[in-house]
Amino acid sequence: MKIKVLKFGGTSVGSKDAIKRSGNIINDCSKKSKVIAVLSAMSGETDRLINLTKSFAKSPNPIDFDNAISTGENLSCALMSIYLNNQKVKSRSLLSWQIPIITSPEHMKSRILFINKKFLFKELEKFDVLIIPGFQGINNKGEITTLGRGGSDTSAVAVAAALDAECTIYTDVEGVFTTDPNIVSNAKKINKISYEEMLELASQGAKVLQTRSVELAMRKNTKLSVRSSLQPKKNGTVITDEKSLLENKTVSGITYTKDEAKITLSRVLDKPGVSSKIFGPLAKGNINVDMILQNISQDGKFANLSFTLPRGDLEKALKILKKDKSKIGYKKIISSDNISKISVVGVGMRSHAGVAQTLFDTLGKNKINIQVITTSEIKISILIDEKHTDLAVQKLHQAFKLHK
Ligand code: ADP
Ligand code: ASP
Ligand code: MG
Repeated sequence: MKIKVLKFGGTSVGSKDAIKRSGNIINDCSKKSKVIAVLSAMSGETDRLINLTKSFAKSPNPIDFDNAISTGENLSCALMSIYLNNQKVKSRSLLSWQIPIITSPEHMKSRILFINKKFLFKELEKFDVLIIPGFQGINNKGEITTLGRGGSDTSAVAVAAALDAECTIYTDVEGVFTTDPNIVSNAKKINKISYEEMLELASQGAKVLQTRSVELAMRKNTKLSVRSSLQPKKNGTVITDEKSLLENKTVSGITYTKDEAKITLSRVLDKPGVSSKIFGPLAKGNINVDMILQNISQDGKFANLSFTLPRGDLEKALKILKKDKSKIGYKKIISSDNISKISVVGVGMRSHAGVAQTLFDTLGKNKINIQVITTSEIKISILIDEKHTDLAVQKLHQAFKLHK
């Protein structure tokens, strides 16, 4: 049985017309193979559900919260299947607990552990198309869980990996670009990119693919591509296991994330074990810390320690650190959430110098102040005031000649 997995994101199912348009892509595909379509909620719906839930309680309990925010996907799946059946396509919508898609126990950031492929194969004997919700699963306690924002990409890759099928991600842009094409109009589409490079772009903020979906595709060697649901005939981007395809380019892309926050602890005692008292409890709270910067004071006894984390985790992190104030021993805690992170990414940076200089030069000329810098072998990331994000991305894209 030949099976294809197609994923449609929020804008691709965001209206009646969009559902019909994407439905027609599914219909066409179902003439040549069985189709499993993994759907997101209609665009804006998950945000609406999150805000609605939080209007009842600032920190809703995770079980009810996931029950609420996973419902957007249920509706889009049902509507899609109704449309397809009306078009004489034998289709069935399913919820993830019916399959089931089993996840790890925690909420809001769960990982997929198991997909009952036997059930999917059985259903595919009766139907030509199965429509299943992304973003949601069920844990071993029978609770509905969600996979984190953008998680439908990961659901789709997980289904494809389980069934050994190809996975096509349909979205609102033509493929993966050198930077966000909605910010830089002459961003260039990348026809082919290695898993490794895509992973770096995604993890630094190219939200066209959720990082975990790329990780999973790389691990399972799943054939993955990105295409536009508005122009399905156009070639998108293929993500492959070939070694770096952009190696001759020093920089392959510019990414940004606006959902960053920064915490600074002032006058932390500079002695062994302090970092673990700070970051241990944060890790236990499932908070991923990103950039870390430490300045030692002149007397060498105290340090100021700054680090970044996802904005959604700021409140939780502040609560943890304030509770542990006397244990850690710091003077003041300061936080800001109007910052963004820009990254210049490229496997070619391993063998080319001068990237940092071009970056600093470009931002300096445009009067954009850098708050924190971190580097790795294949990327340089900086933290800046959020209001300069678009300008910084545009100027860097130009400076590194990525439009050529
Ligand atoms: P979907 O709802 O289909 O999952 P997303 O909004 O999650 O779509 O992802 C698509 C968006 O990703 C695009 O509209 C674009 O603004 C953004 N994006 C950011 N960086 C890139 C990039 N390098 N290439 C393509 N799109 C990007
Ligand atoms: N609907 C979820 C979100 O908005 C999952 C997804 O669209 O990938 O994050
Ligand atoms: Mg997405």
